[in-house]
Amino acid sequence: MIKVKEVDNVLTIKCGNEVNGRVLYWTTLYYYKNLVIDTGCPHTAHEIKDFFHNKTVKAILITHYHEDHCGGAYVFSQPVYAPRKSLEILKNPPKIPEYRQIVWGQPKPVHAKPLKNRMEFEEVTVEVIETPGHSFDHVSFLIDEKLFSGDLVMTKRQMVCMREEDYVATINSLKKVLKFKFDKAYGGTLILTREKVEEYLNYLLELKKKAEELYNEGKTVREIVKILFPNVPQFVYLMEAFSGMEWSRENFIRSLLGLKQENLRNSAFIIKFFSNCKVLNCCAIYNTHKLYLPYSENRFR
Ligand SMILES: [Zn+2]
Repeated sequence: MIKVKEVDNVLTIKCGNEVNGRVLYWTTLYYYKNLVIDTGCPHTAHEIKDFFHNKTVKAILITHYHEDHCGGAYVFSQPVYAPRKSLEILKNPPKIPEYRQIVWGQPKPVHAKPLKNRMEFEEVTVEVIETPGHSFDHVSFLIDEKLFSGDLVMTKRQMVCMREEDYVATINSLKKVLKFKFDKAYGGTLILTREKVEEYLNYLLELKKKAEELYNEGKTVREIVKILFPNVPQFVYLMEAFSGMEWSRENFIRSLLGLKQENLRNSAFIIKFFSNCKVLNCCAIYNTHKLYLPYSENRFR
Protein backbone atom coordinates (compact mmCIF):
# COMPACT_ATOMS: atom_id res chain seq x y z
CA MET A 1 0.00 0.00 0.00
CA ILE A 2 1.19 3.53 -0.68
CA LYS A 3 -0.08 6.91 0.55
CA VAL A 4 1.01 10.17 -1.04
CA LYS A 5 0.89 13.75 0.20
CA GLU A 6 2.79 16.96 -0.47
CA VAL A 7 4.75 18.80 2.23
CA ASP A 8 6.42 22.10 1.23
CA ASN A 9 6.71 21.04 -2.44
CA VAL A 10 8.15 17.65 -1.48
CA LEU A 11 6.06 14.64 -2.45
CA THR A 12 6.10 12.21 0.47
CA ILE A 13 5.27 8.63 -0.38
CA LYS A 14 4.52 6.34 2.57
CA CYS A 15 4.58 2.65 1.77
CA GLY A 16 4.33 -0.65 3.57
CA ASN A 17 3.34 -4.27 3.27
CA GLU A 18 -0.39 -4.84 3.74
CA VAL A 19 -1.54 -8.00 5.53
CA ASN A 20 -5.24 -8.57 6.18
CA GLY A 21 -5.98 -4.93 5.35
CA ARG A 22 -3.35 -3.53 7.69
CA VAL A 23 0.10 -2.17 6.93
CA LEU A 24 2.70 -3.87 9.12
CA TYR A 25 5.05 -0.90 9.27
CA TRP A 26 5.33 2.25 7.19
CA THR A 27 8.44 3.70 5.58
CA THR A 28 8.66 6.93 3.57
CA LEU A 29 10.43 7.91 0.38
CA TYR A 30 10.46 11.33 -1.26
CA TYR A 31 10.17 12.89 -4.71
CA TYR A 32 11.61 16.36 -5.10
CA LYS A 33 12.72 18.18 -8.25
CA ASN A 34 12.75 14.97 -10.32
CA LEU A 35 14.88 13.13 -7.78
CA VAL A 36 13.66 10.09 -5.83
CA ILE A 37 15.17 9.87 -2.35
CA ASP A 38 15.06 6.29 -1.03
CA THR A 39 12.74 3.72 -2.56
CA GLY A 40 10.73 1.95 0.14
CA CYS A 41 10.83 -1.80 0.74
CA PRO A 42 10.91 -4.80 -1.64
CA HIS A 43 7.25 -5.67 -0.92
CA THR A 44 6.03 -2.35 -2.38
CA ALA A 45 8.59 -2.02 -5.20
CA HIS A 46 6.07 -2.55 -8.00
CA GLU A 47 3.54 -0.12 -6.54
CA ILE A 48 6.34 2.44 -6.42
CA LYS A 49 7.26 1.62 -10.02
CA ASP A 50 3.66 2.21 -11.11
CA PHE A 51 3.50 5.46 -9.15
CA PHE A 52 6.55 6.88 -10.94
CA HIS A 53 5.52 5.48 -14.33
CA ASN A 54 4.39 8.87 -15.73
CA LYS A 55 6.80 11.06 -13.74
CA THR A 56 10.17 12.44 -14.76
CA VAL A 57 12.91 10.83 -12.70
CA LYS A 58 16.51 11.97 -13.21
CA ALA A 59 18.08 9.79 -10.53
CA ILE A 60 17.48 7.77 -7.38
CA LEU A 61 19.45 8.64 -4.24
CA ILE A 62 19.79 6.08 -1.44
CA THR A 63 20.55 7.12 2.17
CA HIS A 64 21.63 3.65 3.40
CA TYR A 65 21.53 -0.02 2.62
CA HIS A 66 18.59 -1.12 4.84
CA GLU A 67 15.86 -2.91 2.88
CA ASP A 68 13.15 -0.36 3.75
CA HIS A 69 15.21 2.34 1.98
CA CYS A 70 16.89 0.58 -0.94
CA GLY A 71 14.35 -2.25 -1.43
CA GLY A 72 12.50 -0.65 -4.34
CA ALA A 73 15.59 0.56 -6.20
CA TYR A 74 15.83 -2.50 -8.43
CA VAL A 75 12.66 -1.59 -10.36
CA PHE A 76 14.00 1.74 -11.64
CA SER A 77 15.73 2.01 -15.01
CA GLN A 78 17.20 5.42 -14.10
CA PRO A 79 20.63 5.66 -12.39
CA VAL A 80 20.68 4.72 -8.71
CA TYR A 81 23.30 6.40 -6.48
CA ALA A 82 24.19 4.93 -3.09
CA PRO A 83 26.94 5.30 -0.46
CA ARG A 84 30.22 3.86 -1.76
CA LYS A 85 30.62 1.81 1.45
CA SER A 86 27.53 -0.30 0.74
CA LEU A 87 27.65 -0.76 -3.05
CA GLU A 88 28.76 -4.38 -2.62
CA ILE A 89 25.95 -5.14 -0.14
CA LEU A 90 23.42 -3.68 -2.57
CA LYS A 91 24.87 -5.78 -5.38
CA ASN A 92 24.86 -8.99 -3.31
CA PRO A 93 22.30 -8.51 -0.55
CA PRO A 94 22.66 -11.01 2.31
CA LYS A 95 19.66 -12.96 3.54
CA ILE A 96 17.89 -10.83 6.13
CA PRO A 97 16.18 -12.23 9.27
CA GLU A 98 12.77 -13.81 8.80
CA TYR A 99 10.83 -11.11 10.62
CA ARG A 100 12.31 -8.46 8.29
CA GLN A 101 11.44 -10.58 5.27
CA ILE A 102 7.83 -10.57 6.45
CA VAL A 103 7.68 -6.85 7.21
CA TRP A 104 9.81 -5.48 4.32
CA GLY A 105 10.82 -8.35 2.00
CA GLN A 106 14.15 -9.82 0.95
CA PRO A 107 16.12 -7.20 -1.04
CA LYS A 108 17.03 -7.94 -4.67
CA PRO A 109 20.40 -6.97 -6.19
CA VAL A 110 20.84 -3.29 -7.05
CA HIS A 111 23.69 -2.08 -9.24
CA ALA A 112 24.22 1.42 -7.90
CA LYS A 113 26.79 4.09 -8.66
CA PRO A 114 28.77 5.74 -5.85
CA LEU A 115 27.53 9.05 -4.46
CA LYS A 116 29.93 12.00 -4.58
CA ASN A 117 30.24 14.75 -1.94
CA ARG A 118 28.28 17.14 -4.12
CA MET A 119 26.10 16.18 -7.08
CA GLU A 120 24.47 18.30 -9.77
CA PHE A 121 21.30 17.24 -11.58
CA GLU A 122 20.62 20.05 -14.06
CA GLU A 123 19.51 22.97 -11.85
CA VAL A 124 19.50 20.93 -8.61
CA THR A 125 22.53 20.70 -6.30
CA VAL A 126 22.69 17.88 -3.75
CA GLU A 127 25.10 18.08 -0.81
CA VAL A 128 25.88 14.56 0.36
CA ILE A 129 26.67 14.55 4.10
CA GLU A 130 28.15 11.42 5.67
CA THR A 131 26.03 10.68 8.75
CA PRO A 132 27.04 7.22 10.08
CA GLY A 133 25.55 5.77 13.26
CA HIS A 134 22.21 4.20 12.38
CA SER A 135 24.22 2.21 9.84
CA PHE A 136 27.89 2.31 8.87
CA ASP A 137 27.15 3.73 5.40
CA HIS A 138 24.42 6.25 6.27
CA VAL A 139 24.34 9.59 4.41
CA SER A 140 21.92 12.53 4.38
CA PHE A 141 21.10 14.79 1.44
CA LEU A 142 20.78 18.55 1.65
CA ILE A 143 18.78 20.07 -1.22
CA ASP A 144 17.48 23.67 -1.09
CA GLU A 145 17.77 23.75 2.72
CA LYS A 146 15.75 20.55 3.00
CA LEU A 147 17.52 17.73 4.82
CA PHE A 148 16.66 14.23 3.59
CA SER A 149 17.84 12.39 6.67
CA GLY A 150 17.05 8.67 6.16
CA ASP A 151 17.01 7.07 9.61
CA LEU A 152 19.33 9.57 11.30
CA VAL A 153 16.68 11.33 13.40
CA MET A 154 14.15 9.68 15.73
CA THR A 155 12.21 11.19 18.62
CA LYS A 156 12.50 11.55 22.40
CA ARG A 157 10.26 8.51 22.78
CA GLN A 158 12.99 6.22 21.46
CA MET A 159 13.92 3.32 23.79
CA VAL A 160 15.33 0.70 21.44
CA CYS A 161 17.82 0.49 18.61
CA MET A 162 19.15 -2.14 16.23
CA ARG A 163 22.15 -4.17 17.28
CA GLU A 164 24.34 -2.67 14.52
CA GLU A 165 23.73 0.96 15.51
CA ASP A 166 26.48 3.20 16.90
CA TYR A 167 24.96 6.06 18.90
CA VAL A 168 28.29 7.74 19.61
CA ALA A 169 28.56 8.14 15.82
CA THR A 170 24.88 9.18 15.56
CA ILE A 171 25.45 12.01 18.08
CA ASN A 172 28.40 13.26 16.00
CA SER A 173 26.33 12.99 12.81
CA LEU A 174 23.49 15.01 14.36
CA LYS A 175 25.96 17.72 15.43
CA LYS A 176 27.34 17.68 11.88
CA VAL A 177 23.99 18.18 10.11
CA LEU A 178 22.98 20.92 12.56
CA LYS A 179 25.89 23.01 11.25
CA PHE A 180 23.96 23.26 7.97
CA LYS A 181 20.94 25.48 7.43
CA PHE A 182 17.70 23.51 7.01
CA ASP A 183 14.07 23.94 8.05
CA LYS A 184 12.90 20.35 8.11
CA ALA A 185 14.40 16.87 8.18
CA TYR A 186 12.59 14.43 5.89
CA GLY A 187 13.20 10.99 7.41
CA GLY A 188 12.21 7.39 6.84
CA THR A 189 9.48 7.52 9.48
CA LEU A 190 8.88 11.21 10.26
CA ILE A 191 9.23 14.75 8.96
CA LEU A 192 10.73 16.80 11.78
CA THR A 193 11.45 20.50 12.22
CA ARG A 194 14.99 21.65 12.92
CA GLU A 195 13.93 22.26 16.56
CA LYS A 196 12.86 18.61 16.88
CA VAL A 197 16.24 17.50 15.51
CA GLU A 198 17.97 19.63 18.17
CA GLU A 199 15.61 18.21 20.79
CA TYR A 200 16.49 14.66 19.74
CA LEU A 201 20.23 15.39 19.94
CA ASN A 202 19.76 16.80 23.47
CA TYR A 203 17.75 13.72 24.44
CA LEU A 204 20.58 11.44 23.32
CA LEU A 205 23.24 13.56 25.07
CA GLU A 206 21.24 13.57 28.32
CA LEU A 207 20.55 9.82 28.15
CA LYS A 208 24.22 9.11 27.41
CA LYS A 209 25.30 11.22 30.39
CA LYS A 210 22.90 9.45 32.77
CA ALA A 211 23.91 6.02 31.44
CA GLU A 212 27.61 6.83 31.90
CA GLU A 213 27.05 8.01 35.48
CA LEU A 214 25.22 4.79 36.36
CA TYR A 215 27.81 2.65 34.58
CA ASN A 216 30.61 4.38 36.48
CA GLU A 217 28.75 3.62 39.72
CA GLY A 218 29.04 -0.07 38.81
CA LYS A 219 25.53 -0.70 37.45
CA THR A 220 25.13 -3.33 34.71
CA VAL A 221 23.56 -2.49 31.35
CA ARG A 222 20.38 -4.36 32.36
CA GLU A 223 20.16 -2.39 35.59
CA ILE A 224 20.68 0.88 33.70
CA VAL A 225 17.88 -0.06 31.28
CA LYS A 226 15.47 -0.61 34.17
CA ILE A 227 16.42 2.71 35.82
CA LEU A 228 16.34 4.87 32.68
CA PHE A 229 13.23 3.33 31.13
CA PRO A 230 10.87 2.74 34.09
CA ASN A 231 7.70 2.81 31.98
CA VAL A 232 7.96 0.57 28.95
CA PRO A 233 5.12 0.47 26.41
CA GLN A 234 4.06 -3.05 25.46
CA PHE A 235 5.03 -2.50 21.83
CA VAL A 236 8.65 -2.19 22.98
CA TYR A 237 8.52 -5.68 24.55
CA LEU A 238 6.88 -6.99 21.41
CA MET A 239 9.45 -5.34 19.14
CA GLU A 240 12.29 -6.88 21.17
CA ALA A 241 10.76 -10.33 21.11
CA PHE A 242 9.55 -10.22 17.52
CA SER A 243 12.98 -9.14 16.26
CA GLY A 244 14.82 -11.78 18.32
CA MET A 245 16.35 -8.84 20.23
CA GLU A 246 17.87 -7.34 17.08
CA TRP A 247 16.00 -4.28 18.38
CA SER A 248 16.33 -3.74 22.14
CA ARG A 249 16.71 -1.30 25.02
CA GLU A 250 19.96 -2.98 26.01
CA ASN A 251 21.38 -2.40 22.51
CA PHE A 252 20.50 1.28 22.86
CA ILE A 253 22.21 1.72 26.25
CA ARG A 254 25.25 -0.33 25.21
CA SER A 255 25.56 1.75 22.05
CA LEU A 256 25.33 5.05 23.97
CA LEU A 257 28.07 3.77 26.31
CA GLY A 258 30.24 2.81 23.34
CA LEU A 259 30.27 -0.87 24.41
CA LYS A 260 30.51 -3.82 22.08
CA GLN A 261 27.11 -5.37 21.34
CA GLU A 262 26.53 -8.84 22.79
CA ASN A 263 24.92 -11.74 21.06
CA LEU A 264 21.35 -12.43 21.92
CA ARG A 265 20.44 -14.67 24.81
CA ASN A 266 17.66 -17.19 24.30
CA SER A 267 17.26 -16.16 20.67
CA ALA A 268 16.45 -19.70 19.61
CA PHE A 269 13.50 -19.79 21.99
CA ILE A 270 12.15 -16.44 20.81
CA ILE A 271 12.52 -17.22 17.11
CA LYS A 272 10.88 -20.64 17.58
CA PHE A 273 8.02 -19.06 19.53
CA PHE A 274 7.30 -16.38 16.93
CA SER A 275 7.79 -18.56 13.89
CA ASN A 276 4.86 -20.75 14.97
CA CYS A 277 2.26 -19.07 12.79
CA LYS A 278 2.01 -16.23 15.29
CA VAL A 279 4.19 -13.90 13.28
CA LEU A 280 1.48 -12.31 11.18
CA ASN A 281 -0.91 -12.00 14.11
CA CYS A 282 1.76 -10.25 16.12
CA CYS A 283 2.49 -7.89 13.24
CA ALA A 284 -1.18 -6.99 12.99
CA ILE A 285 -1.42 -6.52 16.73
CA TYR A 286 1.70 -4.36 16.73
CA ASN A 287 0.34 -2.27 13.91
CA THR A 288 -2.92 -1.50 15.65
CA HIS A 289 -1.15 -0.72 18.94
CA LYS A 290 -3.52 -3.13 20.68
CA LEU A 291 -0.47 -4.78 22.00
CA TYR A 292 -0.39 -8.02 23.78
CA LEU A 293 2.57 -10.14 24.72
CA PRO A 294 1.63 -13.41 26.37
CA TYR A 295 4.95 -13.74 28.19
CA SER A 296 6.40 -11.45 30.82
CA GLU A 297 9.63 -9.62 30.02
CA ASN A 298 11.58 -12.01 32.27
CA ARG A 299 10.72 -14.97 30.07
CA PHE A 300 13.05 -13.49 27.46
CA ARG A 301 15.97 -12.96 29.81
ZN1 LIG B 1 17.59 2.04 8.49
